[in-house]
Amino acid sequence: MPKDFLAGVADEYDCVVIGGGLAGLTSANILGRAGHRVLLLEQHYKLGGLATWFRRPGGHIFDISLHGFPYGMLKSCRRYWGDEIADCIVQLKNIRFDNPMFSLTTTFNREDFTKLLTSRFGIAEERVKAFFDTARGMNFYDDQATTTGQLFEKFFPGREDVVRLLMEPITYANGSTLEDPAITYGIVFSNFMAKGVFIYEGGTDDLVTKMGRELKKNGVDARINCDVTKILTGPHRVEGVVVNGKVIRCRSVVSNSNLRNTIFNLVGEEAFDPQFVSDARAVRLNNSSTQVYMALKPGETVDESTGDLLFCSTAPLFRTDLLLSKNITSRTFSFYYPRTRPTGKERYAIVSSTNANWSDWANLSDEEYAASKQDLIETTLNALEKYVPNCRDKIEHVEAATPKTFHHYTQHQLGASFGTKFEGLAVSRALPQQIAGLYHAGSVGIIMSGWLGAINYGVIVANEVDAKLCGNTVVV
Ligand SMILES: Cc1cc2nc3c(=O)[nH]c(=O)nc-3n(C[C@H](O)[C@H](O)[C@H](O)COP(=O)(O)OP(=O)(O)OC[C@H]3O[C@@H](n4cnc5c(N)ncnc54)[C@H](O)[C@@H]3O)c2cc1C
Repeated sequence: MPKDFLAGVADEYDCVVIGGGLAGLTSANILGRAGHRVLLLEQHYKLGGLATWFRRPGGHIFDISLHGFPYGMLKSCRRYWGDEIADCIVQLKNIRFDNPMFSLTTTFNREDFTKLLTSRFGIAEERVKAFFDTARGMNFYDDQATTTGQLFEKFFPGREDVVRLLMEPITYANGSTLEDPAITYGIVFSNFMAKGVFIYEGGTDDLVTKMGRELKKNGVDARINCDVTKILTGPHRVEGVVVNGKVIRCRSVVSNSNLRNTIFNLVGEEAFDPQFVSDARAVRLNNSSTQVYMALKPGETVDESTGDLLFCSTAPLFRTDLLLSKNITSRTFSFYYPRTRPTGKERYAIVSSTNANWSDWANLSDEEYAASKQDLIETTLNALEKYVPNCRDKIEHVEAATPKTFHHYTQHQLGASFGTKFEGLAVSRALPQQIAGLYHAGSVGIIMSGWLGAINYGVIVANEVDAKLCGNTVVV
């Protein structure tokens, strides 16, 4: 008889959280800690969503999205997840760039970037300061018409090299482009510049295991292999969910599922105002990714001077379409030294990440898909050779993921790695005004994506749900 992943579940909860990504986990933890009865339902066989990992024979573990996040993650984790998790967050010191315009190593913070921009790129100090201050001062209520490209043109006209230094890592960090509103760049860039790039020492597996323990401690009923197929709504309010064919009643729902999936598939557009439906239809999804995972043979090493994060490119100029092209010229290599998992086996892993379009991968025949994956692996190994000589001899295991892989594991439409474009944020925020008790927390609007954005959005939404459940005024 198949296992019943809902065995012992209650008939009714204060809140059902759909999805165990970082936003869903954080919302559930805060609500559980506040004493509410919370059920978290994850369709995959493990929690974490895109914050995930996989194991391969030989003691190899690969992290999917543990490449770097801003310092704010430490503060959010300490406050909402506890010291045990926060104490594992450490800084990455060697961020490298290598492209036809420049090669350099940086600690990726304001102080070092100011030094680089003035001494190496020859920009006047007052201009650099004015740029940093402008980026730092941006907030959600700012002018949303100015694009990131226009912001750069204002401060650094004609300086494609400066734009590349400032923009390339952020495009990798959240998929934003020169054509997106400048605010999406300013907030994320300033977050990184505050103190640099950080990572979780111990690996994603350790983080998510500890989060699972914390949920349990706070009384959250977390279930895996539980696919929610419907959010039940009465006249203008949430009533429950259908999961694995079973109805569970609840007073509120936080959906961590993709925003469009939540509105059009889990609820259904007939439940919303026509204007809201049309706004939701206009929400564009962000791009997807490809990755190549490489593990070194036991005993083989990579010198730490190779860097922690390496933004490398052979493209003469920085262009969004080149970054997304299936004909890859730009890659981010993440190097995982044994210190990534201090208590694990002495292993070195390298993950290459590239932004990608769903359309380049979705409609290939099986043969074409397999050949494209192999080509992705081969061209990545060719590119890595420059930084890790004889890498093919050193590597024991290699495999690739494509936009279809990300779609398969998370149900994100078009395999979106960073949720939706900017307009998704307003639609996500407006959900509870359409249907009382229905919330969305998860990657939207570029700003609310990435590990820190997802966690912080989970916090914001949990506070609103808590206020509603306690009968306080809900500020949306
Ligand atoms: C290749 C790659 C590299 C990245 N690198 C970084 C990085 O270096 N730094 C960084 O900060 N961010 C990075 N990110 C982005 C970051 O991982 C995500 O923005 C963040 O983890 C998203 O969290 P989330 O809560 O929005 O939801 P997700 O992680 O998308 O999780 C949503 C969850 O909901 C579940 N779900 C969906 N529908 C249902 C349903 N109907 N029923 C039950 N469960 C459901 C899914 O299975 C999933 O577990 C990267 C992403 C990718 C793809």
